[in-house]
Amino acid sequence: MTIFYFLLLSYFDNVIHYYVMDFIKKRLFLGFICLHILYHASKDPVYGVWMLKELSRHGYHISPGTLYPILHSLEKEGLLSHYQKNVNGKIRKYYSITESGKSELLRSRKYLKELVDEVGLRNGGNK
Ligand SMILES: [Zn+2]
Repeated sequence: MTIFYFLLLSYFDNVIHYYVMDFIKKRLFLGFICLHILYHASKDPVYGVWMLKELSRHGYHISPGTLYPILHSLEKEGLLSHYQKNVNGKIRKYYSITESGKSELLRSRKYLKELVDEVGLRNGGNK
């Protein structure tokens, strides 16, 4: 009986976890990743492999096949620009933030702060 209960509990836990992850992936993931890239590119120029490591440090485990199209679309939107540098005989693309990227980051920060205050993350969501 107890085993059954635990199995049932862990089943529902997995189901809930699955739906939460699905929601986060579909709705929030992309925006968070874009913000993260813009933020770091505003500090120092970033390159793909470094960005992948940084994102995975924060729990976003994405593949180069996901990251590079995001970098390209941010560049296409004029938020990032890239230059190439020869690093140990290999050409590496560095991305840095543009002026319009900076103002986009500033605008996003306001929305993010607003959301954090509203959702109440600062006090454990018990606002
Ligand atoms: Zn970071």
